[in-house]
Amino acid sequence: MMTGPPPGSQGFRSFPETDPEVIRVLRPSDGSLVGELAVTPAHEIPRRVARTRSVQVGWASLPAKDRERRLRGLLNAIGDRTQEIEETIVAETGKPRVEATIEIMTVVEHLRYHLKNASVLFRPRKASTGWMVWKRAFIQREPLGVVGVISPWNYPFILSMNPTMTGLFGGNGVVLKPSELTPYSGLLVEDLARDAGLPEGLVQVIIGGGVAGEALVRSGVDKVFFTGGAHTARSVLAAAAASLTPVVLELGGKDPAIVLEDADLKRAARGIVWGAFLNAGQTCISLERVYVVEEVYDAFLREVLAQVRKLKTGSTPGAEIGPMTTQAQLEWVEEQLAGAVEDGATLVTGGSRTDPASNVLEPTVLAELDLDSSILREETFGPVLPVVRVKDGEDAVQKANEVPFGLSASVWTRNRSRGISLAQRLRAGSVCVNDALVHFGVPSLPFGGVGESGYGRSNGVEGLREMTRTRSILVDRLGLEREPWWFPYSRATERILKGTLLFRLKGGFMGLLAGATHMLWGKRR
Ligand code: NDP
Repeated sequence: MMTGPPPGSQGFRSFPETDPEVIRVLRPSDGSLVGELAVTPAHEIPRRVARTRSVQVGWASLPAKDRERRLRGLLNAIGDRTQEIEETIVAETGKPRVEATIEIMTVVEHLRYHLKNASVLFRPRKASTGWMVWKRAFIQREPLGVVGVISPWNYPFILSMNPTMTGLFGGNGVVLKPSELTPYSGLLVEDLARDAGLPEGLVQVIIGGGVAGEALVRSGVDKVFFTGGAHTARSVLAAAAASLTPVVLELGGKDPAIVLEDADLKRAARGIVWGAFLNAGQTCISLERVYVVEEVYDAFLREVLAQVRKLKTGSTPGAEIGPMTTQAQLEWVEEQLAGAVEDGATLVTGGSRTDPASNVLEPTVLAELDLDSSILREETFGPVLPVVRVKDGEDAVQKANEVPFGLSASVWTRNRSRGISLAQRLRAGSVCVNDALVHFGVPSLPFGGVGESGYGRSNGVEGLREMTRTRSILVDRLGLEREPWWFPYSRATERILKGTLLFRLKGGFMGLLAGATHMLWGKRR
């Protein structure tokens, strides 16, 4: 069995202890230079945060409706730069252009959702005061201040833009640190904010690697929204602990798909192949394990093979599987694959680079795997689809729930209610029935994981809530000389409180009777 890093500690990237002064961004397609950017010195980052904070105060003081009106400008800004955004994403990540368009579409849908729903969240909400009927209470939402967003390289536009937008709708300023592999996609976020006419400095992008990321976490931001691997997340949490800065962690996954005996095998194979190989498998919610009930295992594998054989690889227009974004990532996947084969897995198709000099790994399907193989337990983040035979749905659920990750999952069956009932038993933040991955594109659905996949939520109203805090306000309406529980603690105080306790414990008429009796005639203990 392959001995890799422990689950969630993803060993495929090593970080230098210092950031270089200049970052060179290279195209994964041919290694050519996209551009060079000066790194933001770590000591400069708290100053950047302070500048955003000074602008944010004015932003937060606007009524939510006014903020919403100004954020609407992002739609035009994105429209004006669509081509530039697509080209930047393709240049930095190597993904097919269609997938860059999917990133922009997803951002636009989330933006539209926030435009409709964000200001509602800021309306004061009446709250019950329970037995204190002479009081009035309500809950207000307020901005956090400045949010630090740290984003990865695999979806550099969505994962930079979405938390930034949500932060802005929440009335916050945002300082964003994109991955050093994809900083130009991050810089677009600042450009779009400027184009939309948002106050200068409300959104700032800092450039750098792990050192800049850690400096941002330590800079005094009011919350960190981190998307990346569990290994880095542990460093982020350690840095955040010093100032008790709250953190949202959107981490990796090992997402299972379950194919039941009554599934539409053609649709399941098509959906699962897309879910596994989108962005060359470098998707946090890509399908990395398929559990197929034994009576349809062979037929499903044939369908998968038929689909995979049609996929076009490379970087030319029309290609569906592009290069892996980094050499280190490619080597990690190859190492994991070799380990699985050593453990006895059958290589059904793929397994090699399309040519030795390229970063393109053929879409790979594995069968008959050793259940202890690390490829079924650790995140792969590459174009590899392991297909595992299981006895039945129960067996599949049990195996699916065995790993420490819990990001998303899918169930494939013609019996939708059975699909939903299995979905409810899967340890995952989101589950699709007869579909895959697309839940992230439905903006009303909160997104996030359990266990090694992180905590906190993005998207939907839950995502907006993460970017705000509550303020509870309680108002006394009677103005009595004193409340019954204030000093001095007299005999009457004791009777009133004990009587009320009896009333609340029993409830209803009997409670009222017991409470009143005690208040009038109760004995002191
Ligand atoms: P990393 O964890 O390596 O990096 C994420 C971000 O953190 C990058 O901007 C990185 O900078 C930065 N960083 C690195 N070190 C530190 C540090 N010490 N303190 C603060 N920030 C730091 O993840 P990858 O970029 O490699 O992304 C892949 C991972 O992200 C996978 O595990 C994937 O599953 C997960 N992911 C999760 C998603 C989700 O929504 N749940 C979505 C997409 C990806 P730099 O890159 O410049 O070194």
